[in-house]
Amino acid sequence: MSQPLVVITGASSGIGRACAEKFSQAGHPLLLLARRVEKLEELNLPNTVVAKADVTDLDKVLTAVHMAEQKFGPVDCIVNNAGTSMLGDLWNQDPKEWDVMIDTNIKGVLNSIRAVVNSMRENKHGTIFTIGSVAGINNIPKHEVYCASKSAVHAISEGLRQDLAESNIRCSIVAPGLVETDIFKHTTDDSIKQQFTKEREKVTQVIQPQELADIILHAYQLPQHICMRNIVVAPTEQKF
Ligand code: NDP
Repeated sequence: MSQPLVVITGASSGIGRACAEKFSQAGHPLLLLARRVEKLEELNLPNTVVAKADVTDLDKVLTAVHMAEQKFGPVDCIVNNAGTSMLGDLWNQDPKEWDVMIDTNIKGVLNSIRAVVNSMRENKHGTIFTIGSVAGINNIPKHEVYCASKSAVHAISEGLRQDLAESNIRCSIVAPGLVETDIFKHTTDDSIKQQFTKEREKVTQVIQPQELADIILHAYQLPQHICMRNIVVAPTEQKF
């Protein structure tokens, strides 16, 4: 295999799926993770291991990475993409939704980093992209827990970048604005969904997942001594 292994979490839809297609077109063997494994299989990409794994389950992620490394050699890149956004009013949102966001968006990223970082350290080579959000930089009403989870991964990525600089490992936070995906369907409060849809509709052209995936692939293909630390990409018309 001439190109190294790339791991993408949450590759069953949206940004993760677009990254899977772009990295595959660039010739990389892939490990794709998600709970809806049938969606990963549907992609039918060459040189690809798919695994049904919830990123909150470290053992599942470790096992999948081990399996893919046996087949394709060490992981050189991960896109920590799996995530969810459940907007709500803190005074009546079901606290279980807070757990889901914190477990997926923060602990899922930590688990996925743990599963790949030691082989990157041994090889003194690697790239860790973590999908944060503009909501990790600017706080937005009704997004409190989501914003907190995203600002947490911004902090984790930047601390890790400093820890891993001497190991020649790049850590980049990718902070998108509005991207056309299913993420807005995760919110269970219909009135908040409607309010937010109105806000979204003010932006006539949101970013397509493939456009973001191209940017991530470009950052990966830069020479290893160049690290794009913060990749903040939002539609021009987006104010928040
Ligand atoms: P989608 O809903 O299209 O995709 C979310 C992906 O995450 C799915 O593949 C889903 O797979 C996976 N996922 C969710 N929970 C888990 C879990 N516990 N274990 C494994 N996989 C999981 O949304 P996006 O593509 O928009 O979201 C991708 C990332 O981009 C998220 O981190 C999101 O916060 C971030 N983002 C999105 C923005 C946007 O405007 N769309 C803006 C800023 C950031 P499955 O359900 O099969 O497990």
